[in-house]
Amino acid sequence: MSARRAYPMRDPAADGVPADLCPIATALNPMQPGDWRSLRPVVDRDKCVKCAVCWLYCPVQCVVERPAWFDIDLATCKGCGICATECPHRAITMIEEVAG
Ligand code: SF4
Ligand code: SF4
Repeated sequence: MSARRAYPMRDPAADGVPADLCPIATALNPMQPGDWRSLRPVVDRDKCVKCAVCWLYCPVQCVVERPAWFDIDLATCKGCGICATECPHRAITMIEEVAG
């Protein structure tokens, strides 16, 4: 049985990297999913029965309840299409975003 190999912790300061430097970005990115999404869900209001399955499955919680149907907050929707796949009434269709 081999002993577990220990890996030394890297010391960023020794590499000249400031301790407060974020490895991903140095400033907050103001973009929202609606700025880069390639597909968007469209709800057919005549087919929607307000069962809330889309609300349950949406990973980013951007499904919102309207008086007679469930709608999508397109600013935060990332266009994954899970809601369209899971809707038992086929009330959601994914369509391509139009550039511009
Ligand atoms: S899953 Fe489909 S039918 Fe149910 S609330 Fe959502 S859009 Fe409407
Ligand atoms: S496409 Fe994805 S992110 Fe957008 S409403 Fe449907 S499940 Fe949510």
